[in-house]
Amino acid sequence: GLVLERLLADETQTARLGEDLALSLRPGDVLALKGDLGAGKSTLARALIRTLADDAGLDVPSPTFTLVQSYDTRIPVHHFDLYRLSSADEIDELGFDEALAQGAALVEWPERAEAHLPKTTVLIELVQHGDGRLARLSGQGPAFDRAARSLAM
Ligand code: ADP
Ligand code: MG
Repeated sequence: GLVLERLLADETQTARLGEDLALSLRPGDVLALKGDLGAGKSTLARALIRTLADDAGLDVPSPTFTLVQSYDTRIPVHHFDLYRLSSADEIDELGFDEALAQGAALVEWPERAEAHLPKTTVLIELVQHGDGRLARLSGQGPAFDRAARSLAM
């Protein structure tokens, strides 16, 4: 399939990508954020959630231990961090499917439950690129098409 890239020279540009993606997000969409520790997954997620909340100062704690943090934003958004998931099946106990019925999901460490994510999941990989990062967007279907348009902004 199609793979699109955007260069993120600094933290501001990672946040900017999150803001752009927020504008195209719809209920039911799943954005999977892949990348090593320190790649910028939480930076992107925080900016996206703050944009949906229309609150630049909103506290967006990392759901490292709670595994999921939900926000009652314009489009409800559920921020998952699956790093500490003990088994892939545990994602069902977190109410993943129910969350998608009325909201969107951001998923850090999607590798932990890959088989449980919908086929329409939009994958965003963040990789080191010099002092900055490279964002690689891939997927299929309308959610990917919308994300692709916002990537091109
Ligand atoms: P993760 O959640 O993937 O572990 P974080 O977002 O918590 O990563 O941390 C990423 C770190 O890298 C932060 O210190 C942030 O300032 C920095 N950072 C984010 N995006 C970029 C970028 N495009 N270029 C350089 N540094 C970045
Ligand atoms: Mg993180």
